[in-house]
Amino acid sequence: MTPKTSIRYLKGVGDKRAALYHKLGVDTVDDLLFHFPRSYIDLSAPHTIGEALLQEPCAVKALLTRIGREQRIRGGLSLWKLRAEDETGTPLDITLFNVKYTVEQLVPDRYYIFYGRVTGTLLKREMSAPEIYPADGIRPILPVYPLTSGLSTRMLRSHMAQALRELKSLPDPLPADLRKQLELPEILHAMKEIHFPRDLTQATRARRRFIFQELLVLCCALGSLHNQEAKTVICPMEPVDLQPFYHSLPFSPTGAQRRCIEECAADLTRDVSMNRLIQGDVGSGKTLIAVACAYILAKNGRQTAMMAPTEILAEQHLVTMSQLLEPLGLRVELLTGSTKAAQRRKVLDALALGQVDLLVGTHALLSDGVEFFDLGLVVTDEQHRFGVKQRAALSQKGEDCHVLVMSATPIPRTLSLIIYGDLSLSILDEKPPGRRPVETLLIDSGKRTRAVGFIRKHLDEGKQAYIVCPLIEQGEMNTELRSAVEYAKALAEGDLKGYRVGLLHGRMKPREKETVMRRFKSGELQALVSTTVVEVGVDVPGATIIMIENAERFGLSQLHQLRGRVGRAQEKSWCILVSDVKSGKTAQRLQVMKREHDGFKIAEQDLALRGPGDFFGYRQHGLPTLRVADLADDMEVMEQARQQAQRLLEEDPALECPEHSLLRAERDAMLGSVGDRPN
Ligand code: ADP
Ligand code: MG
Repeated sequence: MTPKTSIRYLKGVGDKRAALYHKLGVDTVDDLLFHFPRSYIDLSAPHTIGEALLQEPCAVKALLTRIGREQRIRGGLSLWKLRAEDETGTPLDITLFNVKYTVEQLVPDRYYIFYGRVTGTLLKREMSAPEIYPADGIRPILPVYPLTSGLSTRMLRSHMAQALRELKSLPDPLPADLRKQLELPEILHAMKEIHFPRDLTQATRARRRFIFQELLVLCCALGSLHNQEAKTVICPMEPVDLQPFYHSLPFSPTGAQRRCIEECAADLTRDVSMNRLIQGDVGSGKTLIAVACAYILAKNGRQTAMMAPTEILAEQHLVTMSQLLEPLGLRVELLTGSTKAAQRRKVLDALALGQVDLLVGTHALLSDGVEFFDLGLVVTDEQHRFGVKQRAALSQKGEDCHVLVMSATPIPRTLSLIIYGDLSLSILDEKPPGRRPVETLLIDSGKRTRAVGFIRKHLDEGKQAYIVCPLIEQGEMNTELRSAVEYAKALAEGDLKGYRVGLLHGRMKPREKETVMRRFKSGELQALVSTTVVEVGVDVPGATIIMIENAERFGLSQLHQLRGRVGRAQEKSWCILVSDVKSGKTAQRLQVMKREHDGFKIAEQDLALRGPGDFFGYRQHGLPTLRVADLADDMEVMEQARQQAQRLLEEDPALECPEHSLLRAERDAMLGSVGDRPN
């Protein structure tokens, strides 16, 4: 038997079960081995009946005293009632269903371990359908697997044990010296310990090895994507005196803005292209960095392209950027899909002649037919909307171009390194002065009517509000649409009757969304009801309230982004989180929103409090699905994997050495699953 052997060749697996295994993504012995336990049952220290905690799954050791007769119940089901007692004489009533074979194996007056949830009262303890193991000669730790209906835990354990027994060897993708250096167990050994561990410490050690392996492969995969974007040697720019620029600003830049601008200015005068990420919380003033760079470029006679993910954002940038740059004699133009033909012609002509210094637009800017006189810098805003592969494509487009990326999504350093490669990082960790933090209220749905009353008061004063719709589980195709429409209608005809309410949802065409957004921005709409698609980065200074329904369903970073839609002017702003969850981790998370206003700190807390799941838009970056590792929990291993991958790729960039061939195969498989687009 080899790892590639089909699962069908295992004893007890025929076509039918093979089809069930296929549902779990298991087709070969190798797949089976990588179907890791979800958790373990620990039978090593069973409780007495009296000690067993009620409602918690646990192992109870007891003497089987009576086995009742088979009773037929409805639907062809059978039931058995058993009685057991522990040394103290405390009884336990056990009910079993449809397990004739198991019952036939049981012998009265023998000790067994019953694993399950103890229910009932202190006087009358019960267990329904427990797993039953002989008290002697059993492995103390048993694996529990993710299952599919038709495949039982027992079957999986037996097939797994068989595969592990019959497999002679398993090739190890981790190079031996690396394994030794990091004291990681060899693969077959680790495989045995992860499925049938001697104790839980061994299981953890084995799992850690596989997490490392997976993250190493991930880092090698992304590392090789970045390697393709080798830095080009280009003609360095002349240093530019920024004093006239600073003097012309209507405000004085923050210390963080000055620092970032200087970092960019230094990059621009080097003979390798700039590849820099500006990470700054919403409202930290990232646009100014792009404006300063465009100024430096223009003074060197070169052009800048600024790309935003939507037309409305592009228009917004046009307004703010031309206000800052035109007084300095620069020409700023806009080009989007909606630019009229005559205007487009005019812009393109001026662009080709080098008369336009800064061209703002959507990604259509880099399409064929748009010819720059001398493009020197491409700035992309809200980069997290682009996937890793798109990003790689993007930087190839403007070949000897400098690249500046601006993002409001805070991601841990390690993750940003693997996503963006050796992109240099500038952090805008200071907000312009005079901003008041958005006051955040946490209410339950019982207080919604009052909250809407509060919103009405603000609308009467000429202010605007966002209302984020309840989130629904994905289900029927049109559920999202229907619920958003119904919710907006209910508001418009009920609590917000007589007000101008607009609706924005994910199933609208981009054009329609832009129209609604524009009407809201212009003040024509007073309230905007939306699903989570509230356009990232859009500045509506008149909006001072955002109310978010089902707040518990959002990640903290997402809530922070949503909250960032308000508080963009000097006015006091409010964020109302509606949630009926009052206890547990979720409630704790929402409390974080009340006291914390710093996106980076919120991201850290999110990381600490959030269970497995999408992490900082990991999937948004089009990154592959991980089988074992969970980035929220395994950041430390990730850092180790990143360093090792970097070292490996330095020594052997294409992973061509024979001892890296398995690693290369794994990497290629993972690269194949890197998505093109964020989803
Ligand atoms: P971001 O893109 O980081 O969310 P913006 O660049 O859109 O933030 O800036 C948000 C607002 O703050 C804009 O209205 C901008 O004019 C203003 N602003 C930026 N820098 C400063 C500053 N140093 N002092 C005062 N206002 C500033
Ligand atoms: Mg912005």
